[in-house]
Amino acid sequence: MARGHSGCRVTARTGSDAKNLLLATLLGAGRHTPDKVAMTSASGSMTYGQLDALSAQLAHVLVDLHGVSRGDRVAVQLAKRPEVLALNIACARVGAIYVPLNSSYTDREVADLLDDAAPVLLVRDEVINHTTPRVGIGDLLIGSSGFETIFEDEECGVHTPAAMLFTSGTTGRPKGAVLSHANLSFGCHTLNDVWGITSDDVLVHVLPLFHVHGLFVAAYCSLSSGATMRFHDGFNVGEVLGAFAESTLMMGVPTHYTRLLDDERFTAQRTAKMRLFVSGSAPMLRSTHEEFFARTGQRILERYGMTETGMITSNPLYGERKPGTVGPALPGVEVRVTGGSPGAVEVRGPNVFAEYWNRPQLRTSEFTPDGFFKTGDVGVLDDDGYLEIVGRSRDLIITGGLNVYPKELEQVIDEFPGVLESAVIGVPDADFGEAVTAVVVAQPGVALDESELRERAQASMASFKIPKSFVFVSELPRNTMGKVEKARLRVDVAQLLRGD
Ligand code: AMP
Repeated sequence: MARGHSGCRVTARTGSDAKNLLLATLLGAGRHTPDKVAMTSASGSMTYGQLDALSAQLAHVLVDLHGVSRGDRVAVQLAKRPEVLALNIACARVGAIYVPLNSSYTDREVADLLDDAAPVLLVRDEVINHTTPRVGIGDLLIGSSGFETIFEDEECGVHTPAAMLFTSGTTGRPKGAVLSHANLSFGCHTLNDVWGITSDDVLVHVLPLFHVHGLFVAAYCSLSSGATMRFHDGFNVGEVLGAFAESTLMMGVPTHYTRLLDDERFTAQRTAKMRLFVSGSAPMLRSTHEEFFARTGQRILERYGMTETGMITSNPLYGERKPGTVGPALPGVEVRVTGGSPGAVEVRGPNVFAEYWNRPQLRTSEFTPDGFFKTGDVGVLDDDGYLEIVGRSRDLIITGGLNVYPKELEQVIDEFPGVLESAVIGVPDADFGEAVTAVVVAQPGVALDESELRERAQASMASFKIPKSFVFVSELPRNTMGKVEKARLRVDVAQLLRGD
């Protein structure tokens, strides 16, 4: 049993004897309770029986009307609604590869990804100028109503590809990570065990359905445990607060939690029925952990994972949750830090994807010879095996030959009076290679003074770490998952400092 997950019985089941592994994982529990509500949303609710039936009908539509067969990619760019999960399950039944696309991608971005994924079908409501055949969700559903509610599922085992997700692409060109039936099933069983998720849970679902967090963690955990989830489109604080009275579980990104804390209606009384708040996808400040605990008496459980690997580590349900860390490796998953401490975070296990789509050469460059995936994150493992993420390796600043880890400085600067939050980046510098630069957001109504910040920095950090410049902005640029877009910030700030 892994340290830090005491009290949980963990059996890393993959159910490899099932005819269609992912289907068995996602509907295995719900088939015992066909009348139970699987999902509710503004557009209506869907029981497990209806989900099962609709996914079978959609599987027929995919095969009979759109010529989809095993191994084909089906790209999907849709608004969040229960039918999207039925379509996802339909793809699993057919043995097709489900390719969800970020709903904010522009036509040009979608066209690039279609060129790469070469799907046989795009499910999207808006027309797009591309050769891929397209159908809207409305037509797909109308087409499905004439078909049988049972389907002869394709045999799909451990290695069968089930989904391909383009990595969030805050830097570089997006790459498609291909995830197998086993990768996704392992994630469901492991997380349900370590987080104690059961059919009694009601999940407040506030995340998008095109990203690993909202789809493979939140939605899949809920379905595979036979629980109920309540879909929220976007994050309306008032609506989410209302949902807590009837729910037990929430999974969110740090921004969700800071937005709740910004609202005085968010109290211990409001969260009395909630048993677990999970955070991930971006680092959560210690101060947010502390404020949340002070307000609700509950500790947020922070975990860490990525598109290519699903979840990797988690603070425990029962043991100590350490703010500022993402917990120990999940049972069955190996995590190591190499090349010093802080060093490169590497991971191996049944959760890890096999390949990037169309890029076989990356198998050698992105994996070590002994099969560990190089996450690109830099971290430290403490004596209890808890991992602290210090940053992305590409965000590491090398100034005058010395390494500066942004998160360390951000934590210090965030504590300065009047500072709301900060992002530390390196910008090109003729003398130092890179110059440490702090981009700072002031608390509302506060005017920050650069020389005062500099004095405080001088008192609290080694001289090579002291930012050469402080840049004040009204907010940090973030992507839909709440991650600060450091690549964009580097370009914008370098331009600003050059006076372009
Ligand atoms: P994505 O593939 O979009 O899920 O992004 C994965 C990346 O998000 C990881 O490689 C980390 O850099 C970051 N990440 C995820 N969870 C956390 C966390 N709890 N703390 C810090 N960074 C995180």
